[in-house]
Amino acid sequence: MGKMKDLLIELQETPIMTPCPDCFGEGTIEYDVPRPHAGGFNEGYIDTATEVCETCSGDGEMERLCDCGAPVTKIMGQDAEVCMECADENV
Ligand SMILES: [Zn+2]
Ligand SMILES: [Zn+2]
Repeated sequence: MGKMKDLLIELQETPIMTPCPDCFGEGTIEYDVPRPHAGGFNEGYIDTATEVCETCSGDGEMERLCDCGAPVTKIMGQDAEVCMECADENV
C-alpha cells in the first residue's frame, strides 16, 4: 500500500520535462558574429559562436509550465499542459 502512495506523490511532484524551445534541446545556441574586413581579408565574413542557452541553462530541456506558471507534473499525463490546480478549476 505504501508503495502505491509513494508513486502517486512522485507523479504529483515530478514535473514533465519538455525540450527547450529556444535551443531545441541542444543546450547551446549558435549565433552569427559578423567580422567585417577582419585581419586583412578584403571581404567580411560571418563567424559563428555558441553560447549556453539561458532558457534551460544548458540542460536542453526544461519543466513544462502551465499558463499560471506552475510546473505541469506527471500525474496529469504526458500530453497535459495545465497544472493540477488549473485542471481542478476547469472541472
Ligand atoms: Zn535551451
Ligand atoms: Zn496552472
